[in-house]
Amino acid sequence: MTEPAFPAAFGFLASARPGGGRVPDAVFATRGNHTRVDTALPDQSLIATLVHAPGIAPDAAQARDTDTAVLLAGEFYNRAALHSVLPPGSEPDGDAQLLLQLLHRYGLHAFRLINGRFAAMVSTGRRVLLATDHAGSVPLYTRVAPGEVSASTEAKTLAAQRDPRGFPLADARRVPGLTGVYQAPAGSVTEIDLDSGTAAIHRTWTPQLGRRIMPEDEATAAVRAALDQAVAARVAPGDTPLVVLSGGIDSSGVAACAHRAAGSLDTVSMGTDTSDEFAQARAVVDHLGTRHREITIPSADLLAQLPYAVWASESVDPDIIEYLLPLVALYRALDGSGRRILTGYGADIPLAGMHREDRLPNLDTAVVYDMATFDGLNEMSPVLSALSGHWSTHPYWDRDVLDLLVSLEAGLKRRHGRDKWVLRAALADALPEETINRPKLGVHEGSGTTSSFSRLLIDHGVAEPAVKEVKRLVVRELFDLTVGGGRHPSEVSTAEVVQSAAERFARGAA
Ligand code: ATP
Ligand code: MG
Ligand code: MG
Ligand code: MG
Repeated sequence: MTEPAFPAAFGFLASARPGGGRVPDAVFATRGNHTRVDTALPDQSLIATLVHAPGIAPDAAQARDTDTAVLLAGEFYNRAALHSVLPPGSEPDGDAQLLLQLLHRYGLHAFRLINGRFAAMVSTGRRVLLATDHAGSVPLYTRVAPGEVSASTEAKTLAAQRDPRGFPLADARRVPGLTGVYQAPAGSVTEIDLDSGTAAIHRTWTPQLGRRIMPEDEATAAVRAALDQAVAARVAPGDTPLVVLSGGIDSSGVAACAHRAAGSLDTVSMGTDTSDEFAQARAVVDHLGTRHREITIPSADLLAQLPYAVWASESVDPDIIEYLLPLVALYRALDGSGRRILTGYGADIPLAGMHREDRLPNLDTAVVYDMATFDGLNEMSPVLSALSGHWSTHPYWDRDVLDLLVSLEAGLKRRHGRDKWVLRAALADALPEETINRPKLGVHEGSGTTSSFSRLLIDHGVAEPAVKEVKRLVVRELFDLTVGGGRHPSEVSTAEVVQSAAERFARGAA
C-alpha cells in the first residue's frame, strides 16, 4: 500500500439517472486533465467527468461492483485502520475501492469511519449517496430532480446546467443565486431516492461539545503525537512536500513535523510590497534547514486576483476571502509542476487563536461558535491550490487533531499568559524559541491584504464606516460573475467591480 503523491482525482461533475445520459463538458476552476466515466448499473447509470492531475490515471478514483458505483475526489488518511476492519484477503486498490468494500460491510455508516479530505458520490440500487468528509473540506454541490441527481465539487459546473430545476433539499445550504443548487453539509451523507428526488441527511461527524481535563504534559504529548501522525499521513513516500510558511506557530509546527516525516522539506513564504513575515519565516527555515523561497506580490496585483479567490473558493464571505486571497496568489505564483502542499490553516479555529481572547468563558464561546459555523465558508477547499495544479491539505483539520484540539478545556488553550499554549508547548523542542513565543498574526494582516483592500475602496470614494459592507457587495458581485455567470476570472476586473459596488452602495445609502 503506497500512498500516491496526488489523489486520483481532485474533483468531479457527475450525474446519476435511471437510464443512460451524458454530462456536458465542465469548466472547472481546478486545473487538470478530464476523464469521462460511464458506469451502467442494473438500476441506474452514473456518468461523470473526473478532473485529475496530468500523468495520473484516475482509476483509483472510481470503483464498482454488480450493484454499486463509487466516485471519489480526494484522499483518506487512516487507510491502515480502514484496511484492518475488512475481511482478510481483501486488497483494495486505491481509496475508491476501499470505500466500496467499507460500504458493503457498514452501509452508509462507512463514512463515520473515514478520516480524510474527500467528496464522494455513490450510486447503489435506486439510491444516490453524496458524502463529505467531517469538515466538508472538499465542497460538494448537488441539484436533485425526480430521475436525476447531479453533483459536483464546484458549484459553477452546476450553474451552467439550468435544467432541470432542482428540488428543495431540506437541511442543506442553498448556493446564493443558483436556483436549485445546494451544498452538501460537512460531515454528512445525503441519501437521495433517485425516483422521487427526496433526500435524508445523515450526520457522520459533529464537533465535540464536551471538554477534557488533562495534565499539561499529557495534553502537550497528545497534541504533538496527533499532529505528527496527521502530517505523516499527508506526506507521500519519496515526495518532498511543500509547506506554505509564515513563521507563525501553526505553519512552523507543520513544517517541523513535515521535515521529520519526509526527511527533506521545501518551504515558501509570500509577502507584498506593503508587508511581509519573511524574517520570521527565515528563523524557521534556518532552524530546520529547508529549501526556501520568498515570493513578493505587489498589493495591486494581489487585489487584481480577487476574482480568482472567489472563483476558486466559491465563498461569499468577505473575511474569508481576505484570508484566502494571499494564499491563492501564492499558489498561482508557484511555477513548475503540481506539488503536494501542507498548510497550517485552521489551527486558530479550535484554539480560538484569532480572537485574542484571554477570558476562558469567552474563549470557549468563540470555539463553540466557530465550530458551529464553519460549514459553507469553503476555507479548506482544495480548489484554492488546484487552480494551479497543486494539491493542498491541512493537518490541523485532520479529524483526530481537530477532535483533540476542540475538546481540550479552555485553560489549556490560554495558559501562562499565552494564546494557543498547548500547541506552543507541544512544539517547544522542534522550533526556535522566538517562533514558539511569537504572537499570532493573521495571513490577511501579515500580507497587508485587509488594509490594501480597504484602501482600494476608500480610493473609490467609499467612506470608512461603509468599507465592510462594500467589501461584502464586491465579493458577492465577483461570485455572481465567476460562479453564477460562468465568467473566467481573467475577464473580470476588480477595479470595475469595486467601482460598481461603491456606486450601488452610494445609491442605496442616499
Ligand atoms: P498564527 O496563526 O499563529 O499566525 P500561522 O501564521 O501559521 O500561525 P495563520 O496566520 O492563521 O497561521 O495563516 C494560516 C496559514 O496560511 C498558515 O499556517 C500558513 O500555512 C499560510 N500562510 C499564512 N501567511 C503566509 C505567508 N505569508 N506565506 C506563506 N504562507 C502563509
Ligand atoms: Mg505517509
Ligand atoms: Mg494560524
Ligand atoms: Mg499567521
